[in-house]
Amino acid sequence: MIQPVKDSLHRLMRDLRISVTDRCNFRCTYCMPKEIYHDNHAFFKKQELLSYEEIRRLAELFVSLGVKKVRLTGGEPLLRKNLNELVRQIVSIKGVEDIALTTNGLLLHQQGQELFKAGLRRINISLDALNPEIFGQMNGRGFDPAQILDNIDYATQLGFEIKVNMVIQRHINVKEIIPMTTYFKDRNLTIRLIEFMDVGNDNGWDSKQVVTKKELLQLLQKVYELEPVEPAYLGEVAQYYRYNQSAAKIGFISSISEPFCSACTRARLSAEGKLFTCLFASDGFDLRSMLRGGASNEELLEAIQRVWTERNDRYSDERSTHNTEQRKKIGMSYIGG
Ligand code: SAM
Ligand code: SF4
Ligand code: SF4
Repeated sequence: MIQPVKDSLHRLMRDLRISVTDRCNFRCTYCMPKEIYHDNHAFFKKQELLSYEEIRRLAELFVSLGVKKVRLTGGEPLLRKNLNELVRQIVSIKGVEDIALTTNGLLLHQQGQELFKAGLRRINISLDALNPEIFGQMNGRGFDPAQILDNIDYATQLGFEIKVNMVIQRHINVKEIIPMTTYFKDRNLTIRLIEFMDVGNDNGWDSKQVVTKKELLQLLQKVYELEPVEPAYLGEVAQYYRYNQSAAKIGFISSISEPFCSACTRARLSAEGKLFTCLFASDGFDLRSMLRGGASNEELLEAIQRVWTERNDRYSDERSTHNTEQRKKIGMSYIGG
C-alpha cells in the first residue's frame, strides 16, 4: 500500500535519484576539478557502496512512500559493473512508473544493449561541446566529443529515448550553443541547456559565469522560432520549447535564475547510502548503518518518513536573499544531480 508523505512545505516525495558510485572517468571542470579530484583522492571503497540488493530494498520502501520515478546517476554510473542487474530489480518494483539513467555516455557501447534488455528506455547524456578542444578542456581528460556522439547514435539505434544535457558557462562554451542545438535538432533529439550551478564548494562557481535562461532564449531566438511547451507534469525540472517544424525540443534548467524549489519532489540516495533531501545539503541521513545494523523495513520506513516530513529545503529560492555561498555543501559528483 502506498502511503504518500509530505514535507513541511507540503511537497510530496515523487522521485528518487540514486547515485551508484562517486567515481568518474571524466574530470569536468565544473563538477570534479582534477586539481581536487586527483589520483590520491579518497573515493568510497567497494564495501562502502550500497550493493544492488541494498539499493533495491531501499527503493522499494521509497516507492511505498510515493516515489514513482527513479533515476540512476553518479559519479559515472556506467563505471559500476552490470548496471543492468540493478535496472532489472528496480523495474520489477510495483509502483515504479519510470526509470532513467544520467551518464556522460563514454561507456555506453559496453552496457547499452544489456541495459535496454533489462527494461531501461530513457537516458540523459551529458555533452558540453562539439568542438574537440572545448569539450576536451571541459571534461578535464581530453576526451573527444566524437566518442560520445557515436554512442548517442548507438543508443538511439538500440531504441533508447535520449536527451542531451549541456552545462553552459560564460566564456567557455557559449559559442557551442548554436552548433549543439542545430546538430541535435537535425537528429530530432531534445537538448537541455543547464545553468552553471553552485553545487559543492570546490567547482570555482562564480555567478558571472552563469548564462541565464533569459539570455539563452534571446540568443536562440535570433536563429530559431521557438514556442513554449506546457509542462508535462507538475514539478518538471526543465522548461521546454519546440522549434518550428521539428519534433525536437529544447529545454532549460534554470535553477539559478528561475528556481523551482516549491515543486521539488526529489529525494536523493548517495552511493554509500545516505538520504539527502536537497542537492545543496550539507549532510544526509545514514540509511546504510541502519540497513547493515539489521533494521527492519518498518524501522527504515519510519526513518525515511521522518526525514521527509521534517524537510524544509529551498536552497535555490534562498540563494538571492541568504548568504548561501558560504554553506558547506555536498559535491555534484557525490550526489549525482
Ligand atoms: N556523470 C554523469 C553525467 O555527467 O551525466 C552523471 C552525474 S553528473 C553529476 C549529472 C549532471 O550534472 C550532468 O548532466 C552534469 O553536466 C551536471 N552537472 C554537474 N556539475 C554541474 C554544475 N556545477 N552545474 C550544473 N550542472 C552540473
Ligand atoms: Fe563526471 Fe558527470 Fe561530474 Fe562530469 S559531470 S565529472 S561526467 S560526474
Ligand atoms: Fe530541490 Fe534543493 Fe534544488 Fe530547491 S535547491 S529545487 S529544494 S534540490
